[in-house]
Amino acid sequence: MKATEKYFTSTYEQSRETFRNLINSIKEKWPKAELYTKSIGREADNTIDVIYSEGGSSNDQVLFFTTGEHGIEGYTGATVTHLFVEEYLEKVNSETTGICLVHAINPWGMRNFRRVTENNVDLNRNYIFEPDSVPEDVNENYAKECQIFQPNEKVKDVTKEKTELYEQLSKGMMREGFSGIKKAKSMGQFEFEKGVYYGGSEEEESAQYMKTWQRKLLAEYPRVIHMDGHTALGPTNEVTMVVSEHDEREEEEMKEQYSMENIEKFTPKKVKGDSTNYFHKLNKEEYPDTYLFSALFEFGTFGTSRKAELREFTTIILENQLYWEGAEKEEDRQWILEEFQNMFYPDEEEWREAVLKEARLGIESVLTQEGILVTA
Ligand SMILES: [Zn+2]
Repeated sequence: MKATEKYFTSTYEQSRETFRNLINSIKEKWPKAELYTKSIGREADNTIDVIYSEGGSSNDQVLFFTTGEHGIEGYTGATVTHLFVEEYLEKVNSETTGICLVHAINPWGMRNFRRVTENNVDLNRNYIFEPDSVPEDVNENYAKECQIFQPNEKVKDVTKEKTELYEQLSKGMMREGFSGIKKAKSMGQFEFEKGVYYGGSEEEESAQYMKTWQRKLLAEYPRVIHMDGHTALGPTNEVTMVVSEHDEREEEEMKEQYSMENIEKFTPKKVKGDSTNYFHKLNKEEYPDTYLFSALFEFGTFGTSRKAELREFTTIILENQLYWEGAEKEEDRQWILEEFQNMFYPDEEEWREAVLKEARLGIESVLTQEGILVTA
């Protein structure tokens, strides 16, 4: 069997089943390991699954792997978790290191191949530390052009609508609109509950649950090493490590330290409610003595060109419209879903092979640098 066939799954149940079975390998090194299952949302069988164990004799550090914050992106996250267990587990000192692996933070989204939750919430815009920190004018531009981002009618002819979106977004005809959606992409928007990049009006169950794990690990370990799996951003077929500005190192310095080509830092000023910043903030305010390394790992799909950016926005907008309004033609529905999959979970062999290769690179460099992997 090809490695990609072994690791990549095509349904939420299949992915979860594979994950749950990892407990057997993990118990060989961490006999106390347990599987925790938490139901999320309105359907009982959508669960966040966590495999957790303390270190055998001491809790010097903990490895924290999270996946599926953006539903559909969880398939790749789960693949990387599985790869880690198969190839790297033996290099972790289970006597001194705790382990916490999380499958599908947004299980409904993963099951239904959407990025957002069943409440249309982008979970990575839903971790607000102080609710007052969201500026009131955050969605000014988005509001001005919201009919573009949120057409309230059925998709009638996807080729035509796609071309129109490209034109509107690219020609700068809707300059404010473009900056509005760009801003919404990073800041989230908190007014239009059927719109794209919606951050929600209250805390999602998934965020609540994950915060309890963040808090537990920061409280019980002096060192927390966190990797969060995502897809779409960054150069095609490559991994990009995204870190918060709370990490004081320069990008260049980090590239050298981790021997990684693609490292991006983002500032909380441009992003609201993301889980990594929340984690850092919690660290700083309540557990200042704990060392926290937390990074997103993005496996790139469309690329980084301006054309790729337009394709991304168009895909996100059309998929959202399809979800809320439907499409007149079945072939248009299929096209949009396929394009959405191309963006977040491509089935091309080349991309999947690249994920495995790049994941090894990311895991090895970060976990070696952070002292989790012990080289013989
Ligand atoms: Zn993501």
